Amino acid sequence: MATQFARLLKRLRNDFQLSIISLMGLFGIIGISPYAAYRLLTGNYLVGIADTIIVCSTLIAVLYAWITRDTVKPGIYLAAVFSLGATLIAINLGINGLFWIYPLILFNFFMVTPGKALLATLLVLGGLVSHALLVPGSVFESHYQMVSFLVTGMMASMLSFIFAFRTRTQRDRLQLMAIQDPLTGARNRRAMNDELKIAMSSHRRHQHSFGLLVMDLDHFKQINDRFGHQVGDQVLVAFVELIQRSSRKEDRLFRFGGEEFLLLLPNTEASGLHSAAQHLLRRVAEELESPAGSVTVSIGGALLRSDEHWENWLQRADASLYRAKSEGRNRAIIDSTTQAIPTEA
Ligand code: GH3
Ligand code: MG
Ligand code: MG
Repeated sequence: MATQFARLLKRLRNDFQLSIISLMGLFGIIGISPYAAYRLLTGNYLVGIADTIIVCSTLIAVLYAWITRDTVKPGIYLAAVFSLGATLIAINLGINGLFWIYPLILFNFFMVTPGKALLATLLVLGGLVSHALLVPGSVFESHYQMVSFLVTGMMASMLSFIFAFRTRTQRDRLQLMAIQDPLTGARNRRAMNDELKIAMSSHRRHQHSFGLLVMDLDHFKQINDRFGHQVGDQVLVAFVELIQRSSRKEDRLFRFGGEEFLLLLPNTEASGLHSAAQHLLRRVAEELESPAGSVTVSIGGALLRSDEHWENWLQRADASLYRAKSEGRNRAIIDSTTQAIPTEA
């Protein structure tokens, strides 16, 4: 029981959108249920039924998000139901219902993307004003009140839009910074650990095959020593571009250490890993340049074995790299066969 509760809390902590949907759901249910009961008891059935539908929909959407882990559809659904419900209530109650439009505007920006939230708000404001113009005397008490409501509603929407858009852009940038190496643009070590763990569980659950190539530039220190750190940096950037151009779209490149990189190759068997290693070795020797001439790389590879821990897999690839270095560099050794692949110079 306690562990289950801890697991639920962990999910709430890790999934921001789920926590927002749950929190808003809770507010919606606690905040609207008394109104629903009051309206039904006092005979205002239209508003009472609208409130009840909102409460029930909220409950269903929150449960759906928890069960399916999909927070996008429940978000859209809740924004649509709340917007429609608030519009009907404002039409029915007039000025007393209009106060609910302001929290609705904020609610929508929490539930869906800024563009969708802005659209929903414009539809609500447009719907209320159209109704007031078609049925004079409804919703607003005067034209002045209608214009004031429209202006304040639009201001609240625009400010929320700017805030939500900024937050989203910053969040995306932070997410990228957390997984990317700033110099080369390859994924960083933190991302690498996560992806190797995911590969391990995918192999265990679905028997998906994975290959790993650890690459270390040969005599890289000499480039730094002779031409400076900046030239060394340029070689690293060129190396990453070259590997990305020379590998498949689904392959993932990580910067493992200073001039050590790791390529994760999904859906790859022994022969594929051999030819990928050979291909990269050749492309680097042919195309990677420093002021002193061509730069080469040594590669160690390993296929993920059944029931193997990812750290062991990495160690096997690393040990193969060590062998490739000690056997003369500019070569690839794949652990599963322990056969050296000489370059086809
Ligand atoms: P080997 O063939 O045995 O791999 O020789 P090496 O000289 O490449 O190996 P070593 O590990 O001795 O040197 C790696 C060098 O990489 C040392 C370090 O100065 C350099 N290095 C590490 N990170 C960076 C970086 O971000 N930029 C630059 N320019 N150099 C780096
Ligand atoms: Mg090196
Ligand atoms: Mg090294």
